[in-house]
Parts: sequence; structure tokens; C-alpha cells
Amino acid sequence: MAEPMNEPTTLHGALAAAARRAPATPVTFHTGREQVTLAELVTQSHAVAGALAAAGVRRGDRVGVLCQNEADFFRVLIGLGVLGACACPFALPTMARDGYAERISGIIAAAEIRTVVLSERLARLRGVLGTALDGITALSTSDLRGEHPAPPDSEVTGDDDLIVQFTSGSTSAPKGVRLTHANVLACLDAIGSAIELTGEDSAGNWLPLFHDMGLFGSLAALHYPIPLTVWQPSVFVKDPAHWLKMMSDSGITACPMPNFAYEALARAVPEDEVADYDLSKWRVAFNGAEPIAVDTLEGFLEHFSPAGFRPESMLPVYGLAEATLPVTFSVLKEPPHADWVDRARLAATGEAIAVPRDARGARGIVSVGPPVQRMAVRVTDPDTGVTLDERIVGEIEIRGASVTPGYLHGEQPFTEDGWLRTGDLGYLAGGELHITGRRKEMIIVRGDNYYPEDVEAAVRTDPAVHRRRCVAYLDETAERMVLVVESTAPDTDDLRAHLRAKVSAATGLDDIRVVVAGPHAIPRTSSGKLQRLASRTRFG
Ligand code: ATP
Ligand code: MG
Repeated sequence: MAEPMNEPTTLHGALAAAARRAPATPVTFHTGREQVTLAELVTQSHAVAGALAAAGVRRGDRVGVLCQNEADFFRVLIGLGVLGACACPFALPTMARDGYAERISGIIAAAEIRTVVLSERLARLRGVLGTALDGITALSTSDLRGEHPAPPDSEVTGDDDLIVQFTSGSTSAPKGVRLTHANVLACLDAIGSAIELTGEDSAGNWLPLFHDMGLFGSLAALHYPIPLTVWQPSVFVKDPAHWLKMMSDSGITACPMPNFAYEALARAVPEDEVADYDLSKWRVAFNGAEPIAVDTLEGFLEHFSPAGFRPESMLPVYGLAEATLPVTFSVLKEPPHADWVDRARLAATGEAIAVPRDARGARGIVSVGPPVQRMAVRVTDPDTGVTLDERIVGEIEIRGASVTPGYLHGEQPFTEDGWLRTGDLGYLAGGELHITGRRKEMIIVRGDNYYPEDVEAAVRTDPAVHRRRCVAYLDETAERMVLVVESTAPDTDDLRAHLRAKVSAATGLDDIRVVVAGPHAIPRTSSGKLQRLASRTRFG
């Protein structure tokens, strides 16, 4: 171990130190079958820094980054860090490209970006981007190769901004979260220490690198360092079973995914083929970024137990872009567990009253565990700011070394005493956090509170609902609850009446509008989260 005094305070410093400890650590990119060692990656990143400096990038500049899950993503990010410049990774367009160029234009203007680096693999995007890059220096990653003068010494400190991480955009337009080198290192250290990484580990990731879970999960591997394998998201999405085979064959021990991916895996691998997989090495299956459904989690554990997947490998976690990534991790080496509480009381009064799991109206909430190191969590009354007791629902507030100094623009999310308001609702029980929903998404009808999650839970597993995709929200004008389901079945009066009856039984409300839409009709974020509030705009 280095003396504390010499401990690196920047990402590039830390990765250079990691590369000195284990230079041959392989970093593998499935696309293009690219493999580099960590030492090569660090050296190449310094060369990229030289090229970026030659192109006019200076300390304090914010630079747009449009890359796939490829080595250049890291080279550009680290290279910008070397210069004391700040990377703004842009989400890549989804199938529906409507409004993409306008969104990018908006971000470029808001973040005062003058330079954008575009992957040479994404050259076709120039057409999609239209005029968004007008007046901007647009560099291709191919321009950054080769010999360039060494970057100037920039005396970058831990307080320099390294990344502007955009939130997913679940509840509004994505917000730009400023993250310093110090924030990022605190995040990487917290991940490594929470899961007790050792040299025996090896990490995998198919989540987009422009999102926090994909990016910082991967950087944590480089930082330790342990071998890292990166896939494109499409590799997983197109054929989850094939991905799982590749992942298990490569002996990966740590890999993050959201709830929907665990569901997709259980659906993709038929029961009689499960034993063909060896998941016994998968030691840390992070499960986070979106609500964790008890039935999905238990279904996955049961389905993959013949493949040697151990329940204690499943690690429910909670995090957000504003915390760089991790806030709480459930307890390592223990199987995940849910708290069963009275659903009606939870929504009505915010009390988490423990009930037996088979009690009528019991809601299971998966524990996401205690705070990670150098992170503190408290639950407060959103109206008065008073800190609440255990088992009382309030807004989750956080404070810690990986918490952002603030958004690029707009209203800042801090309380007067410096805690960050997450907008998430939840409660503590035995020091462990339980997420119940989001403030903005609560449905309030005639003074009564309803969690959209409860409404959706009433119909999610109905055979008419395609892949459990449904959202509930409030029609504010009519003060009426709306349920939208995706279905491959035709939209008939009978189907709507059937779904309405289920929601009525669960909520006691009669006046509910049900919309039956086709698959993929519900708007989702670039990370695949269903957008309840954007659904309101789309479906009224
Ligand atoms: P936006 O802030 O733009 O509306 P977002 O909050 O979804 O979008 P992210 O920061 O990428 O953007 O996601 C973090 C959020 O995801 C958390 O604030 C929380 O609402 C949700 N989340 C993350 N992990 C969990 C979890 N384990 N259980 C429930 N919700 C989770
Ligand atoms: Mg958020």
C-alpha cells in the first residue's frame, strides 16, 4: 500500500497506480474483439490527452463524448481527466430517434460544450445529429490516434470536475450531475471495499457506459484492478441466454444489472437448459438502478439454482447519479431479504408495519442494505425536514464523499444543512434502507396516497400484460388514476374492464382509466426504465 500522503487524488493517477501494480490486467471489449492491458490503456489515454490538447481542449472545458461500449470511451474519459477537462457522456439514440438531435443540441448549449468526441464506429450518427454539431469542434476518435506531444502538466486536483453524468430522465429531462475526481475515487473505493474485491475476481458489464452503473461498475474493476470484459448492451438485449453463456464461460465473478435483466434471463433460459450453465463463480450479482421485485428476485434464484447460482451472490443495491453511484449495498455473503409490510398502511400513513408475508395486502420490499463507506443516509419528512424514526416512510437524503457538488444548472438538490435530497421515498429498518417509491410519482386522489408500484403490482403478472410492462399515474386534471398496460392482446372493453376490476380491488377506487397499448408503447429512458410521468404526456 502507498503511504496515505501519496495516495492518488485523480482518476488518471489512480489508474496509473493500478497499472503499475498489475500492468498485464486484461481489458476486453467484445465488439471488435479488442483486448488491451491496463498498462496499454493508461498509456494510450495519455496519448489521447496529448491529441485532445492539440485540438484545443483545456483544463475546465466540458467535452461531449459519444462512444459505444468500447476502449475509446475509457481513453477519452481518462485523457480528458489528465487535462483537467470534464467528460459529458451522451446517451446513444434508441430505436426511436425522435428528438435526439434536439436533445443533444440542448445539452451542448446548457453545458457550454465546444468540443464533441464521436466514436469512429458511430460516424453514421453525424447524419442523425443534423445541425446539433454546427459551430462545434467535432473530433472523431480516429483523429486521436498516433503520436501527439505529451499533454501539458495541468496540476489537476481531486476537486476538478471529471464527468458530468446525466441522470436517467425517469421523472423529467435528464439533469447534468457534476462529479469531481474525488467523488469518482470515493465511489470506486466504496464499491471495491463493499464487495471485498480480491485479485481472484473478474468483472463483466453490458450496461451502457454512458450510465452510472455501467461506467462506475467498469471503472471499479480497472481501479482495483481486476480483469474486465465489456459487451455492447445490444448483445444482452438481443439474446440474453447467449450472453449468459459467454459470461459464465469466462468465469466472471462480478456483474451488475437491473431487475428487468434478471427477469429477461429467467425467461430466456428454458428450465431444462439451466444445468448447461455454470453460474457458481458469479459471486456478486449487483441488482439495482430500478425497483427490485420480490417475485423476479426469487424467481431468478430458484430458476438458476441448478446452474449453481448461490442466493448470497444476489446483491440488492441502491444508488443514483447524484451519488456518483452507490448509496447502500445489501450485506455481502447473505441472501437477499424482503421486509413484508401492510400495503395499505404504508401508502396511507407512511408506516411500515411488519406483517406475515402471506397476510392479505402484504407488500414485500427488498432491503437494499446499509450505507456504503463514507456515505450517510437519513429519512426525513419532506414537508418539515424532520428526521424520521425507523419504519416511517420519508424522503431519502444522503451525504458523503461521492455525492455531487451540484447540478450543472437549475435548482440544486440540497437541504440547508447540506444533505442531498434524492426525491426517493423509503424507510430504514434495522439500519437497512427500503425503497418504496418516488415523491413525484405518488398518486394522490382526494387526499389519499397510492403508490404506482401497488397499482401496477395488481396487474403486472396478468397474462394480458406483455412482459409485466405497465405504469400507473395521476391524471391531474380529472383527478383520476390512469393505468397503461402494454399488451399483445386486442384492446377490448372486456380487457379494460378486467384490468380495472383488479386495480379497483387493490385500491378501492372505482374511477380508473385503463389504456391498452401495444408492446413498446410506454416511454422508457435510455437505460430502459419505464417513465410514468412521460406516459402522462403521451397517453393523457
Ligand atoms: P431522473 O433523476 O432523471 O428522474 P433517475 O433518478 O432514474 O432519473 P438515475 O440517477 O440514473 O436517474 O437513477 C437513480 C434512481 O433509480 C434512484 O433515485 C431510484 O429512484 C432508482 N433506483 C436505483 N436503485 C434502486 C433500487 N434498488 N430500488 C428502487 N429504486 C432504485
Ligand atoms: Mg433521479
